[in-house]
Amino acid sequence: MSPRKSYVALLHYPMSDRTGAEVTTALTTLDLHDMARTCRTYDIAAFYIVHPIDPQRAIAERILRHWEGDGARHDYRGEALGRVRVRVTLDAVIDELSAELGERPRIFATSAKAAPGCIPQRALLTAAGTPLILFGTGFGMTDALLARADHVLAPIEAPKPGPESENGYNHLSVRSACAILLDRLYGDRGDSSAS
Ligand code: SAM
Repeated sequence: MSPRKSYVALLHYPMSDRTGAEVTTALTTLDLHDMARTCRTYDIAAFYIVHPIDPQRAIAERILRHWEGDGARHDYRGEALGRVRVRVTLDAVIDELSAELGERPRIFATSAKAAPGCIPQRALLTAAGTPLILFGTGFGMTDALLARADHVLAPIEAPKPGPESENGYNHLSVRSACAILLDRLYGDRGDSSAS
């Protein structure tokens, strides 16, 4: 379905907390399940869960083992989770993909806030290289991590509020942000009728 091979990574370090301090966030199993299913639906080649803490990665690996065993018989989840890779650092992901692809992936970071120099989301589709799309957790990626990306994508936003609306709310979960972005990049617009 996706017109170009792409990868997604969910990072847990280095993230910001509500005060702006650098933290490591906890793995959320909902993110693992939901983002894996979204990534599989839009034919993302692999979905990386990146966490520096051993017991946190062990939780992810245990879930993956369950769904490749008995669980796989009862649900389509096993197929989606089969594309999940659990790794320690972003560098490990970049090294692995560089070896697999024969070139470094092109890294696109996401943020709820418009970063200086951010590019339109769909510019990813025409950029050179194989996209690796980074998603953050907690209160988002630190500036140092965002600076490692080749590009930061413009945030997902609702239409700007009109004169009668006070809507300034933009607090999507990372699961929702991932689904919206992949649909904007790779989704069928749903404009054609079945007849
Ligand atoms: N205030 C944080 C920020 O500026 O990114 C929100 C963190 S959000 C709970 C966790 C992650 O979800 C973000 O790091 C980003 O990857 C993604 N995300 C959330 N809202 C987004 C949006 N409106 N546009 C793009 N990505 C978003």
